[in-house]
Amino acid sequence: MTGRTHDLAAISALLAIFIYEPLIEISLSTLFLALLFNQIGGILPDIDQPTAPFWRNLPVGKLIGKIIDKSLLGGHRFLTHSLLGAVIFGGLFYFGLLFLKSAILSINVGIIWISFMVGVLSHLLLDSFTKEGIPLLLPITKKIGFPFNKQLRITTGKSVEYLVVIPVIIFIDIFLISSNYSYITHFFKYYII
Ligand SMILES: [Zn+2]
Repeated sequence: MTGRTHDLAAISALLAIFIYEPLIEISLSTLFLALLFNQIGGILPDIDQPTAPFWRNLPVGKLIGKIIDKSLLGGHRFLTHSLLGAVIFGGLFYFGLLFLKSAILSINVGIIWISFMVGVLSHLLLDSFTKEGIPLLLPITKKIGFPFNKQLRITTGKSVEYLVVIPVIIFIDIFLISSNYSYITHFFKYYII
């Protein structure tokens, strides 16, 4: 899937969790960092791609992307597109957050960590619907996807992604927001501290 579809899926998955697991209260800095790292988590698995949005935005990103792609991560859709990769990302990010917590005391490490992981896992889920599949169960290298029949899966960047996947996600978002509108407005009014 393309970067924009992953951005949308990451924030939509977070919205769904926010609605079905209501929060008591949240600090403004936690909310900001949760949204930021949700979006970073949503595109992070594609750091193994030299052309990924993650690298494109850095001055020497293309070069770094190429080196990392070949030597460290085993090429596109390898370690970073597996459950093992998600565990490694999650562990590293958790330690990073503990460090951040010592600088910004008001942040809720748990909420930010979950938001980040929701982004990462939404990426894996979405990529599993594509023709290439993902090596979800590394070290078992076989790429798997849903549905199991490859022919029924989506080709990245083609019309099905733009005409079906994105509109379906937007439709679910509109449904979730409209059917929980009073909860959402109440939350933003009273529970952000
Ligand atoms: Zn990907």
